[in-house]
Amino acid sequence: MLSIKEAEEILHGWPLQTKEEEIELSECSGRILSQDVASSEDMPPFDRSAMDGYAFISSDNSERFKILETLAAGVFPKMPIHPGECSRIMTGAMLPPGADRVVKREVTAEEDGFMRLTGEDHNDNIRRRGEDLCQGSVMIRKGSRIRPQEAALLASSGLKRIYVCKKSVVGILSTGSELVEPGESLRSGQIYNSNATSIAAQVQAMGAESRSFGTVPDKEEAIRSAIEGLLPACDLLILSGGVSAGDYDFVPAVLRSLGVTLHFEKVAVQPGMPTVFGTRGEKCFFGLPGNPVSTFVIFEILIKPFLFRMMGHEWAPLLIRATLEDPYRRKNAERTAFIPIIYNEGRASLLPYHGSAHLLALSRANALMQLPQGVLEISAGSSVDVRPI
Ligand code: AMP
Ligand code: MG
Repeated sequence: MLSIKEAEEILHGWPLQTKEEEIELSECSGRILSQDVASSEDMPPFDRSAMDGYAFISSDNSERFKILETLAAGVFPKMPIHPGECSRIMTGAMLPPGADRVVKREVTAEEDGFMRLTGEDHNDNIRRRGEDLCQGSVMIRKGSRIRPQEAALLASSGLKRIYVCKKSVVGILSTGSELVEPGESLRSGQIYNSNATSIAAQVQAMGAESRSFGTVPDKEEAIRSAIEGLLPACDLLILSGGVSAGDYDFVPAVLRSLGVTLHFEKVAVQPGMPTVFGTRGEKCFFGLPGNPVSTFVIFEILIKPFLFRMMGHEWAPLLIRATLEDPYRRKNAERTAFIPIIYNEGRASLLPYHGSAHLLALSRANALMQLPQGVLEISAGSSVDVRPI
C-alpha cells in the first residue's frame, strides 16, 4: 500500500502532453493559457487622471487658475497648461501637456471661469503611463487558469482571441449490478448511480469535458467491452465501483487484461483505499471505490491535480490551519484520513459523519479535515489542516 505522498509522486511524475487551441476571448473563463501573454500596450496606455478634478502645474502657487477646457475620459486635450491655468478633468481622461498634478474637485471652488483651492490634497492623482506594466512584458503566464480578473486583463490588452490548452475529455463509467440511473424506478436492493453525476460535476467545475457512459453490471466481459468502446473518445477514464476485494470486484483485473499497466492499486487514505491508477499509451485510468464519499474525496485529492496537469495547469489545494472545536478520535491510524467538516473563521467543527457512504455529511461540509497517518486522536483546541471543498 502506498502512502498518499507516494501516490502523488507517481501521478505528478507521469508525463502528460497538452494540446493547444485558439478560442474567442468571450469563451475564456476557466480555460488554461497555453502561452505567456504579453501586454500589447503600456498599462495604463497614457498618463491619466485618477480623480474628477483640475489638472495644473504642481509648482504653480497662483491664487486662482483660469479654466481652459473640460476633459472627459476619451477626449484628447487641445490646450497645454501654463502657470495660472488649469483644465477640468474627469477620471480616466488624458492629462493635458504641461500639467503634472490633478487636484480633486472636493477641495476646490469655481468662480467666473477660474478654479481656486479651498483645501489640501497631497496626492498627484495621476496614473502614469506604464506604471502597472510596460508594453511587451508578460502579463499572464502560460499555465494560468483564467479567472474573471485574468479575463479582464486580457480584454484590457485588446485581445480578441487567445491560445489555451485543449480541454481533456473524461469518460465516466459506473460499475455495479445494483445501480440504476436517476429517473428510473428502483427495485428493492438497488440504488441510484450518484457517482456518475458527482464525478461529472467535479470534472466540469475544473473546466474539463465529462462524458458519462451510464452503468455496467459487475460482469468482467461487460466491463471490458464497455471500456474498449469508450476509450477512443476519452483522454482519461474514471471507473467507479468494483475495485475492492469483493467477489464481484473485477475492475483491476479487467484493466490489466486490456493491457493497462496499473501503477498503484491501494493508497493509505481513508476513505478510498482501493484506488487504482493505470495507463495505456497516452490513455489514463482511475478506478475508484464506489462509496460516494470515497469517490468524491479521491477525485479531490488525487484526480484533480492530475487532471489539471493534463490540461497544462499546476494546481495545489488551498490548505488552511484551523482550530478543531471538538475532540476527534478514530480506531486506527494506518491511513491519512479526510473528514468532512465545517470551516468558519479559523475554526473547524465536526459534523455527524458515518463513513464513506454518508453523502449527506459531505453535502453539509464546506471543507475536509486532513488527519495524517499515525495520528489517532486530536484534542479540542488543536491545530488541524483543512482544505475547502
Ligand atoms: P464497491 O466499490 O463496488 O464495492 O461499492 C461500494 C459501495 O458503493 C456499495 O455500497 C455500492 O452499492 C456503492 N456504489 C457503487 N457504485 C456506486 C455509484 N455509482 N453510485 C452510488 N453508490 C455506488
Ligand atoms: Mg460493487
